Amino acid sequence: MMERVYTPLLEQIDACGPEMVGRLRRWAEINSGTYNLAGLEEMFDELRCAFAPLGGEARAVDLPPAHSIDSRGQTIATPLGRALVIRKRPDAPLRVLLVIHYDTVFPVNGAFQKTEMVDDDTLRGPGVVDAKGGIVVMLAALEALEASPWAQRIGWEVILNSDEEIGSVGSAGLLKAAAARNHLGLVFEPAFADGSIVGPRKGSGNYTVIVRGRAAHAGRDFEKGRNAIVALAELITRVSKTTPPGIIVNCGQIEGGGPATNIVPDLAIARFNVRVTEPAEQLHVFTNFEAATRELRLRDGITVEVEGGFTSPPKPLDARSAKLLDHVLACGRQLGMKLNVVASGGTCDGNKLAAAGLPVVDSLGPVGGELHNDREYVRISTIPQRAKMTALLLMKLAAGEIAVP
Ligand SMILES: [Zn+2]
Repeated sequence: MMERVYTPLLEQIDACGPEMVGRLRRWAEINSGTYNLAGLEEMFDELRCAFAPLGGEARAVDLPPAHSIDSRGQTIATPLGRALVIRKRPDAPLRVLLVIHYDTVFPVNGAFQKTEMVDDDTLRGPGVVDAKGGIVVMLAALEALEASPWAQRIGWEVILNSDEEIGSVGSAGLLKAAAARNHLGLVFEPAFADGSIVGPRKGSGNYTVIVRGRAAHAGRDFEKGRNAIVALAELITRVSKTTPPGIIVNCGQIEGGGPATNIVPDLAIARFNVRVTEPAEQLHVFTNFEAATRELRLRDGITVEVEGGFTSPPKPLDARSAKLLDHVLACGRQLGMKLNVVASGGTCDGNKLAAAGLPVVDSLGPVGGELHNDREYVRISTIPQRAKMTALLLMKLAAGEIAVP
């Protein structure tokens, strides 16, 4: 009975299906790789125009540069794009944070730039599901909410960031501050290829270890040299051997030395990606690196630096997020969807929001797959479908039919 009051507004979303696909294709064909500042600006302008009819106060937030270590062990700063932040009714008693990124992993000079209908329901293209399809879903859901009679009872904040694909290193502070002033978080990352929604997520971090030794001629002065590669190799082996099952420490790249093998190398760099399931395991990773570096530091002529940390803390499904997820699933079922919940080894901004104490559901985008490669696709029928699910959730929250967990 109650659903019937929402039906006309939800049907309106269905009527906009073709328009949504057109919008998605246009956006996907604007290259917005994380480091393509010109393309990001073009997308930013598109987004500002598309969201303007919703009202609210929009602002552009310049993100601080991303820092990384180059192959000489020097810190370099790389400029990032801007985040679009929109707040509407910030004084409402109930406030919802809606987040998704508009950067992609596809560089401006890559071959994958166009969209193409593969069959009646499948659109292939860069970022069609990760995550520009999610932006289209978010926008349609907010349009439905704003057209509803309950809109006045709920406030919302939208964050569209441009650095998620590198761990939201520039927008982390923005996300944390927004988590503190809202009551629940909705993130529009893609659903799984079978339609499943993500429950818990692992946490992810990146560590760079820089070992410096002492150069010397390998023939004349080998004893005076301090081999940075050998020291680093010992560290990698030690860290790998002492990592307990369940924690992933992947050494993904090593650099060091040069083509002249008759020189004792004085620099070696290793880069690690680490994944954990439980928050306490982050400390374990940290202490494990510390123990391995402490041993090397005791040696004459060897220095060790460890840079980095967890960009995304793990997101176990806590009681409040589980309750919010139940509400989402109930909305989906009312719309005739079959939804499963799965765990993911991948991370997203939902990890950061959850770590800041916000109940969050983070795969409210459309259904698709093959993320981060040139077969990326979205099932276009799921764009209005998922938009209706979020719209129903927002309207029920605003109407007081369901409560904030
Ligand atoms: Zn991605």
